[in-house]
Amino acid sequence: MATFKAIVIEKAESGTKASLADFDEANLMEGDVTFRPEYSTINYKDGLAITGKMPVVRRFPMIAGIDAAGTVEASSHPAWKAGDKVILNGWGCGETHLGAYGQKARVKGDWLVALPGGMTARDAMAVGTAGYTAMLAVMALEKHGLTPASGPIAVTGAAGGVGSVAIAILAKLGFTVHAVTGRPQEADYLKGLGAAEIVDRKELAGPVKPLAKERWAGGIDAVGSTMLANLLSMTRYGGAVAACGMAGGLDLPGSVAPFILRGVCLYGIDSVMCPLDRRKEAWKRLEKDLDRQKLAAMTREIGLTEVPEAAASIVAGQVRGRIVVKIG
Ligand code: NDP
Repeated sequence: MATFKAIVIEKAESGTKASLADFDEANLMEGDVTFRPEYSTINYKDGLAITGKMPVVRRFPMIAGIDAAGTVEASSHPAWKAGDKVILNGWGCGETHLGAYGQKARVKGDWLVALPGGMTARDAMAVGTAGYTAMLAVMALEKHGLTPASGPIAVTGAAGGVGSVAIAILAKLGFTVHAVTGRPQEADYLKGLGAAEIVDRKELAGPVKPLAKERWAGGIDAVGSTMLANLLSMTRYGGAVAACGMAGGLDLPGSVAPFILRGVCLYGIDSVMCPLDRRKEAWKRLEKDLDRQKLAAMTREIGLTEVPEAAASIVAGQVRGRIVVKIG
């Protein structure tokens, strides 16, 4: 029996349990590409899955991990051959399909994106779903018509993964970025990524007015709930907010006033089932529009054995920037 090491989530007496285990290769799921993940990463959703805080995992046993970058071992898919370098983000991996925290993965070739020539597998996972989602959010604001001349852009959950990458991208594109954070001690870090101003998240935590003073031309929100509702009420006439997260809650306790009185638009960002063309565009843009030195400055590396601990930290809001996982 051939086995490989993986972080496996199983049902436990109460809830679920995640641990490093030997996984039988024969139990890999269907797919036309088998590849060797070299790096993965810790996203908020990985934290939810591993801690069992939300019912992210819908099949047991599950290999956790929604993201991987690695090398194709075998393929019957016309686009891929052994030796190709690939990126996998989402598509239910780590939720309904065996995921990325393992030395082997088998998936549909249609889910894969080629690793951009200028990036290593580690770079791609420093970006990960968090960073690729940040890029999708920036693309949504651009499509809306926002430019650096439109005015400042607020980024919530700023010191987290999506927030950190969003700040770096927006700054490189010339936008003035206001970083909304609950960690004022990270001000130097956030300014280093390109934030022009640090906003205490308490300013967006109070009761939501239908319309508040107009502050930002747009926003990227990783937090949801009261934070997103306040952000919408503070968005300038004709502005736009790209919402991608729920680190502060799934609800949206606001009013329609920003939409009907200020023409504000709210764009929903989904990375999991995002069509392949938009993914490819996002990765192309990430290669060009994300400063690699800033990416390195926001990233630290751990091994597979440290994944459960890092998962608990990200759900507790204690992770700064991005964590890559060396699969080994
Ligand atoms: P992180 O934990 O790295 O970042 C989240 C940040 O949100 C924290 O660092 C913190 O920022 C802030 N935050 C956390 N808890 C609260 C709270 N209770 N109230 C207000 N702010 C809070 O996670 P990621 O960046 O990886 O993901 C962020 C969100 O985006 C998650 O909800 C995730 O599920 C979602 N997501 C969605 C995707 C999609 O496809 N739509 C894809 C990727 C992520 P600070 O300390 O600076 O205040």
